[in-house]
Amino acid sequence: MASNEVCIVVIEDDHNISDLVAMYLRRDGFRVLQADDAESGLVLVERERPRLVIVDIGLPGELDGLDVCRRLAGRAPALPVLILSARDDEVDRILGLELGADDYVTKPFSARELVARVHAILRRSATPSAAAPAVAQYGSVVVDSGRREARVDHEVVPLATREFDLLAFLVENEGLALSRQQLLDGVWGHHWYGDERTVDVHVRQLRKKLGTDLPLATVWGVGYRLG
Ligand code: CA
Repeated sequence: MASNEVCIVVIEDDHNISDLVAMYLRRDGFRVLQADDAESGLVLVERERPRLVIVDIGLPGELDGLDVCRRLAGRAPALPVLILSARDDEVDRILGLELGADDYVTKPFSARELVARVHAILRRSATPSAAAPAVAQYGSVVVDSGRREARVDHEVVPLATREFDLLAFLVENEGLALSRQQLLDGVWGHHWYGDERTVDVHVRQLRKKLGTDLPLATVWGVGYRLG
């Protein structure tokens, strides 16, 4: 089974939670390595090159889970991060997502839900290069999924991670009217903490940054369509 080789690092100081998460992931065929503080977790990441990191926000020592997100942001190839957070940690959770974490679960969580989210993140992080055309062009706008770049008139336009993810998802589904919920599910994953206006905000950013050559249409009563 191919998933046997997929390594996940779990950074969590509560051993009951860490062991439970590890047990469920192993049952699903993942190789799981556990660390109980940020420093040793980051060492594991460098050494083992996992496909995903699961990190608790509240960790002992000098670095917390948000520092881990900071350290792992912007890596190439991207390393997805799933945050574990306490129920009253909403500000930290949002900060973690802004720092580039892919998703979160709130304690107490069901291990089954966590595993489902892990699969969803891995699916998302695996598909863009495989499924999408390497380069799509709309007038002066070029979307290069391989390089994760958007260019207008040959100039690279800086996009936030989620903005590019949304753009790439629209390109993959070119010509289809997609509801805001479908876009949330496809780009952010199910049970996103925000609401559908999150999509509107990102669409507005894409239009502003990429200009009118990008054929990103509002489909009234539905959502958005590219092309
Ligand atoms: Ca903790």
